[in-house]
Amino acid sequence: MRGSVVSRRTALWGAAAVLGSGAESRLRVVVVGGHPGDPEYGCGGTIARYTGAGHVVTVAYLNRGERGCAGQSEAPCGELRTAEAGRACAILKARAAFVGQKDGEAVVDDPHYRQFDELIAAERPDVVFTHWPMDRHRDHRAAAALAQDAWVRAEGRFALMYYEVAEDTVGFRPDDYVDITGVESARRAACYAHASQRPDHYYPAQTAITRWRGEQSGHAQAEAFARHARAVGARLLP
Ligand SMILES: [Zn+2]
Repeated sequence: MRGSVVSRRTALWGAAAVLGSGAESRLRVVVVGGHPGDPEYGCGGTIARYTGAGHVVTVAYLNRGERGCAGQSEAPCGELRTAEAGRACAILKARAAFVGQKDGEAVVDDPHYRQFDELIAAERPDVVFTHWPMDRHRDHRAAAALAQDAWVRAEGRFALMYYEVAEDTVGFRPDDYVDITGVESARRAACYAHASQRPDHYYPAQTAITRWRGEQSGHAQAEAFARHARAVGARLLP
């Protein structure tokens, strides 16, 4: 069992060695987020780096954030935030996908594990990013649990990385850093595409984090990631 995982890891490291050298070496990346905006805030620069290098990124939103518009009922709010997510993904040259769970009511049980495992398997990812398991929001913790289950089901065939989002992530301990200085404008535009979500409040908070991560890694701004202890990953980052 362990041996097969190790051999697959070796294959992944082999893929990383030719990263960026042609279409056959394109990575397939999935970024899982609880709500529209989470992947853009936590990984927007890294997504832009991946797609800028020709890799393929799918952003999988657990729900449509339909409870997240002040004074609006769920249906129009969900439509608005779906459109915002579409614009953000267009800016980052990623594809938006929706898992179909309900905002604030993420279900983690056998049928939902299976549904999510199938979704991830269909993407054939090399790398999956998801929320930190100790995030404050229950939908984020559910996204972490679902992604980890998909990783277990896939017998570790993809790298599993955790990201941080302002005001939600606590106790985060990063392993790896991605320089996002050169893609800051794309990250900003993708976050501001979520105009219903007070970007003037949240974007500076996230930028404070990426400046701090930059100080730790020698860049003006960086996104930081924690690697699953049993997963490869650092060399699959842009
Ligand atoms: Zn969220």
